[in-house]
Amino acid sequence: MKSTKFIALAEALERVRGTASKNEKVSILSAYLKGLGPEDARVASRIASGRSSQRGSRDEAQVGYSTLLDVIREVTGATEEEISKVYLKRGDLGEVAEVLLGDKKEQPLFREDLTLAALDDAFARLRATKGQGSSGAKRGTVKSLLLAATPLEGKYIVKVLTGEMRTGLVSGLLKEAIAGAYGLSDEEAERAYMVLGDIGTFAESAAKGDTRSARIQPFRPVNFMLAEPFATPGEIAEHFGRTVYAEYKYDGVRAQVHRSRGAVRVYSRRLEDVTEGFPEVVSAFEGSTREFVLDGEVVPFADGRPLPFQLLQRRLRRQEDFEEARKKAPVTYFAFDILALDGEETTELPLSERRMLLAAVVAGSPVRVAESVDVTTEGEVMAAFRRSKELGYEGLVVKDPGGAYAMGKRGSGWAKLKEELDTLDVVIVGAEYGHGKRAGVISDYTFAVRDGDALKTVGKAYSGLTDKEIGEMTKRLKETTLKDFGYRRQVRPEIVVEVAFDSIQRSGRHDSGFALRFPRIKRIRTDKGPSEIDDIAKVERIFAGQKLKVDEAAR
Ligand code: AMP
Repeated sequence: MKSTKFIALAEALERVRGTASKNEKVSILSAYLKGLGPEDARVASRIASGRSSQRGSRDEAQVGYSTLLDVIREVTGATEEEISKVYLKRGDLGEVAEVLLGDKKEQPLFREDLTLAALDDAFARLRATKGQGSSGAKRGTVKSLLLAATPLEGKYIVKVLTGEMRTGLVSGLLKEAIAGAYGLSDEEAERAYMVLGDIGTFAESAAKGDTRSARIQPFRPVNFMLAEPFATPGEIAEHFGRTVYAEYKYDGVRAQVHRSRGAVRVYSRRLEDVTEGFPEVVSAFEGSTREFVLDGEVVPFADGRPLPFQLLQRRLRRQEDFEEARKKAPVTYFAFDILALDGEETTELPLSERRMLLAAVVAGSPVRVAESVDVTTEGEVMAAFRRSKELGYEGLVVKDPGGAYAMGKRGSGWAKLKEELDTLDVVIVGAEYGHGKRAGVISDYTFAVRDGDALKTVGKAYSGLTDKEIGEMTKRLKETTLKDFGYRRQVRPEIVVEVAFDSIQRSGRHDSGFALRFPRIKRIRTDKGPSEIDDIAKVERIFAGQKLKVDEAAR
């Protein structure tokens, strides 16, 4: 099939950018994709997602601002002042290209329409141009692209190259558009996208009509399964209600390890290829002959004990000589799951079976399987938790032995228990009715800390209390209601609760400017009044002091 013109995609993206409606964004893109063959669907969807290459690939075709500015200057003849004037007005280099390309100084000898395939080739060339002396070659490639491009095309080329698409097409919407274009059900689209891990590969498969046979493949990372936070051993025991695995929670970096045909690659939680940072992990699999995808944690580890996470952090940041850092923070890969083995997907097998496969795969290698004990009761969860802390681990991840591997989900099959960063005593200022089995009770609480005489909200919690406590809370909140908005009410700040949380983030959602991540109520502080709650200074202190994990988002 002949490749289609890039201008049609640029026009579609322009329309997508022009509407705030998510439905409209989806239907514009869906209508555009409908006519495309598999190759073009792959390239177009990737570009729409703001990428020039497959997710997880080692190389991106990104080009630095200064190179782009140089090329724009050369091609358009604009002066630096003219460029910075437009930039200040628009705040986006893509738009600068659009405005200025209207006035090209140089014209190509033969002007050919840019096709998606040609653009994809150019991206591949940019990716392949690396190392010393590469900037001249890159400049040449970008220049020929911008010479051939119309202003609108130039705008989107620059946007992809700077990674600043800003069309509001988040991956969920893109997935919907692709599903719509090729007639996939939501479920099918969800499953295939998960397994394929990359929006372009998904679009290509949808266009070919073979999403049903989509499988996890080596060197195509998939989204990790995540754990749900729990506040107490009691809640965990109650949640599962049977014998489960309590694994140590290793404090390192999450890593998916792929091995096929003699090669090993390591992917981060953001699905980036981070193989170069962990030569020990690669060599640990040297003796292996099998093909697999494993999930686990790279942990700084020596003499049978975990080392402080900060050492690994320093190593990852490359703050010192790599070999030096490697010596100070040697790592061991603790594998805890297996997603595929010798061409078969294993995600649907129960964890108990996956664990056996995993043990067989890593047997005889320096890779360790995450340690685990069977627990049933609250006391057993507590004992396992204590033991993990004594050994220097972060806590527990408790797992259902019968559970599948839920890619990309914070599945309730995995429950994490760790010592909280700190707790805050807060006062409840607003409340909402719950959902599902909590529909008739007020179970969601917005809470605040003190800021001088004012109260500033920092979060909203809906877990941690027993049904009985929620019943009592409902009664008290009704009594203390200041304003009733139906499902939501504003209440007199009287009830003090102690909340635990995973971390604090900056956020515009609450008027304190901060939001607690995964807050849960530890206890109702009947012993405290609203004048005794914590203040914003404590929030700021915890925020500043929380050990910033290696790219937090990547974990
Ligand atoms: P958190 O970072 O607090 O959200 O906890 C979840 C993280 O714990 C996962 O993303 C893993 O990186 C890490 N982790 C450590 N040990 C385990 C384990 N045994 N099972 C699953 N995740 C683990």
